[in-house]
Amino acid sequence: MLLSFIVPCYNEEGNVRLFYDAAVRAIREQTDDFELIFINDGSKDGTLTRLREIARESDACVKVINFSRNFGKEAGIYAGLTHARGEYACIIDADMQQRPEVAMEMLAFLRSHPEYDCVTAYQQERHEGKLLAFYKRTFYRLINRLSEVEFVSGASDFRMFNRKMIDAVLSMSEYYRFSKGLFAFVGFNTYFMPYEAQARASGTSKWSFWKLFRYAIEGIVSFSTAPLRLTTVLGLLFSGASFLYLLVVVLQKLLVGIEIAGYPTLVALILLLGGIQLLALGIIGEYLARNYVETKRRPIYIVRDIIESQAERQP
Ligand code: UDP
Ligand code: MG
Repeated sequence: MLLSFIVPCYNEEGNVRLFYDAAVRAIREQTDDFELIFINDGSKDGTLTRLREIARESDACVKVINFSRNFGKEAGIYAGLTHARGEYACIIDADMQQRPEVAMEMLAFLRSHPEYDCVTAYQQERHEGKLLAFYKRTFYRLINRLSEVEFVSGASDFRMFNRKMIDAVLSMSEYYRFSKGLFAFVGFNTYFMPYEAQARASGTSKWSFWKLFRYAIEGIVSFSTAPLRLTTVLGLLFSGASFLYLLVVVLQKLLVGIEIAGYPTLVALILLLGGIQLLALGIIGEYLARNYVETKRRPIYIVRDIIESQAERQP
């Protein structure tokens, strides 16, 4: 099989049919040797019903992986890659923000440029608020300083890659999956293709500010241990400062006789140090918690059932 499309879907009842039609039309211009893998990530609307209809009626290879609950897009990507049989796999959203035609350009590029293993779409211009853009910029600046792998600002997880890279990504079976980082970590040669995200066909994005914030923390903790070192540095800094202060106090006592100690200074110092200690504990906790969950080796996703189209069932 040449190509696998991997489509994570969460509450996309208004989009999957549109997406299916657009995708099949775009792919058939280049090849008939393809499959569509939809992951129903615990949708609470009619997404599964729509997907069942598509699988029943379709004359193409369609596979619907129905999760037992919502496991998140990253788990969906992993499930899709596990089931993909294609020589190339493409990760694409179901909401029509990412046009299948662009995916087919990626495929054409990869097939004509064997020196590349992956094509990633990135947004040159984003239609989003100044504040959000600022947060995103700060995140990329921070994570690139802290982490050993390179994160490219604006790169989406709309991408196409070859079998070598699929297998490399699958070999990383960690529970906390920060895809952007995993893709950067495996290396290979990536070509960045500019694209413009379309508006959602229907429904709303699942990202809230807090989700994005958690996601950013996730990325940093998954791909850098620098924050842990920060606590050591702070500890050293404060020990040094307190030693100097001790010297000052002793000299004052010997030379001028001591005055009544400053109460506000004391309170401020206690609060400052208490705060820093809590922060340090929190940072250690973030890593410890991940370690804890990771050692339990729980599955990344659980499948309730798999629905296949006629063509997919034939060997
Ligand atoms: N998605 C998913 N599981 C989730 C959240 C989202 O599979 O828990 C899917 C969603 O259906 C869509 C894609 O991931 O196909 C991207 O989600 P969304 O459009 O909300 O993100 P955005 O495009 O705003 O980054
Ligand atoms: Mg979207």
